[in-house]
Amino acid sequence: MGFIKEVQAGSSESKYKKLKYIQLFDGTTSSIRILDEEAYETWYHYVNRAYIKCLGRDTCPICKVNSEIFMSNPDDFRDHPDYISGSKRYYVNVLDKTDAKHCEKCGHFEKNTSLVICSKCQTSIANSDIEPINEVRILSKGPTLFKQLDALSKTVVGEDGELLGINGFGIKLRVEGTGKETITTAISNTFDIGEVVIPEGQELFDLKEAIITLTPSEIIDFKGGVSLRDVFLARGSQKSEERTASLTGKVEAVVGGPSSGALDIVAEKIDELFGIE
Ligand SMILES: [Zn+2]
Ligand SMILES: [Zn+2]
Repeated sequence: MGFIKEVQAGSSESKYKKLKYIQLFDGTTSSIRILDEEAYETWYHYVNRAYIKCLGRDTCPICKVNSEIFMSNPDDFRDHPDYISGSKRYYVNVLDKTDAKHCEKCGHFEKNTSLVICSKCQTSIANSDIEPINEVRILSKGPTLFKQLDALSKTVVGEDGELLGINGFGIKLRVEGTGKETITTAISNTFDIGEVVIPEGQELFDLKEAIITLTPSEIIDFKGGVSLRDVFLARGSQKSEERTASLTGKVEAVVGGPSSGALDIVAEKIDELFGIE
């Protein structure tokens, strides 16, 4: 073993793990197993086309503005242009066992198995086998779906009449409609019970990374029009001890050095992380 380790250019990217979300869309039914014992619950504000974690009533600058608006307009505060409501969102790791066609070219799993062309890259998938996806994904939805899951956890029992627990049985997620009209229905699948095993080589996602968490001053900057990219790049230029936020960890893993080329890669990665086009 040498004194220094030779590291290939770009190899630091292996530390960077892209968050993968389960694909749920109109007309499909997904088969899942829930992998976490508890859902991760958070409040968020939808600001400039991004979901930003609410830091709580005492710290969050958006909530502070909201309460000022409420004080002066108690009857119609929601109609005020600067009022940005908060919503609850839940996150949980699931094993996506849905049957799909795997596109060899782009890696996409096509859940609509009647398709003969990959909807992502337009390559023919006419001859692809239909197989379970069997990969870990993040399921992220609001209270409507997660209350259904909670109810299942308290009612679904095995042959012995004992509760199976949220990790003990399969669930089918039926999706109908699009956009705000989407209805997702959770149904227990007791043909799939027993301990769930995470496929080899896969791991759970850190759910806390799934929501963008900014400091109060960063929230004010972002709300004022500074791009997320610039917010995170500004973090990177601060002292290393201050780089504690989870996202900054990823940024550092990708940067590896202060060259401007690397910063371009960071910006790309941030866009990719949050699905910014
Ligand atoms: Zn807030
Ligand atoms: Zn494809």
